[in-house]
Amino acid sequence: MTCVFCGIPMQKRVLENEHAFAFFDLYPVQKGHLLIVPKQHRETYFDATEQEIMAIHDLLHKGKQLIEESYQPDGFNIGVNVGEYGGQTVMHLHVHLIPRYKGDIDDPRGGIRKAIPNLVPYP
Ligand code: AMP
Ligand code: ZN
Repeated sequence: MTCVFCGIPMQKRVLENEHAFAFFDLYPVQKGHLLIVPKQHRETYFDATEQEIMAIHDLLHKGKQLIEESYQPDGFNIGVNVGEYGGQTVMHLHVHLIPRYKGDIDDPRGGIRKAIPNLVPYP
């Protein structure tokens, strides 16, 4: 089976190091939404080697800089969906780096906590 992220063309890779690369999400949830992936096909975050996690970490920092230069966001969300029931739709590990903007939603409190319904009320 072919993997869409293994097939991301070189010219779309906006950042790269030895073990990872980054590209802009084709269906961004906010402008500047970046995805960071290992070069080797790994299904989930927990399948990556430590070296790959460090390479992704490096590109998270470089991606933050790149997004700040281009879009001047007011905050960020960093997220990884793991497995079908964690919401993962592309089965090649990717870390979402999502810039956030003042006013992009009415009440930003809670951030990624809002991806999942509350188990108990949050004061
Ligand atoms: P997830 O739901 O965490 O697996 O996220 C998959 C992400 O990949 C979504 O944010 C999609 O918008 C994005 N996506 C899917 N296909 C492509 C593609 N060909 N190029 C760039 N991003 C993609
Ligand atoms: Zn792949």
